[in-house]
Amino acid sequence: MNITFFNKRHLKLIKENRELRKKLNQYEQVYPPKECPICGYKGIDFQSYPNIIHKEVMCPACGSHERYRAIWLYLENNKELLENHKKVLHFAPEIHFKELFESKDVEYHGVDLNPERHPFVEEKVDIQDIPYNENYFDLIICSHVLEHVPDDIKALNELRRVLKPGGVALILVPMNGISYNLPYDESKTLEKEEYNTPELRDKYYGQFDHLRLYGTDFKERILESGFELLSEDFIKRLGMETIERYALIRDERIYECTK
Ligand SMILES: [Zn+2]
Repeated sequence: MNITFFNKRHLKLIKENRELRKKLNQYEQVYPPKECPICGYKGIDFQSYPNIIHKEVMCPACGSHERYRAIWLYLENNKELLENHKKVLHFAPEIHFKELFESKDVEYHGVDLNPERHPFVEEKVDIQDIPYNENYFDLIICSHVLEHVPDDIKALNELRRVLKPGGVALILVPMNGISYNLPYDESKTLEKEEYNTPELRDKYYGQFDHLRLYGTDFKERILESGFELLSEDFIKRLGMETIERYALIRDERIYECTK
């Protein structure tokens, strides 16, 4: 091999690589890459869904949605909730959390009314009639469940009943103006007896199996059930840089409840 030629070629490649890296850095300053806190993916191409307001919904590597990433960040910011053998109740648990909970010293209960639909659910539980004693759980996660439940007030009462005093329940629901952009008053929950077909639910509530379209008055249901509301603006408080980096929804509310 011609050593001189090889060295020259090598130096040229190093220079080209350096210039490319410089261009990439400049590009990333203008268009910062998105990151997934769950799987560590970094890139610009988070995936969108039709009919959903927010543009960067799904992580292309692990399939996480904005709310999974938000809950993940909440748990990272509140590590004590998963320490010292805490009891955790998780409705309709997302598979993304499996490794996290398995790696912690917690008594974990992943539950659902239809366990066969979830790969990591072991218990069948109706949220309107939770088969546990009162004051049992330290942490409850209930994300995008109540919109499927016929009596959501009863469900909220049950969540409060099984939560320990001083425990935390994280409650999220899809809301008009945040998850959906439907032409109805965003401050009022829309729920009508006559919208009881999959077609009408899809039209008025945004999804065929949703039983209502929540407005910002959802907070009143939480307070009526006797919960004390600790906060609802965790995501907003993370700041725009973090919100953009993890492709979160700035106005999505995590209702952080206690009793
Ligand atoms: Zn991911």
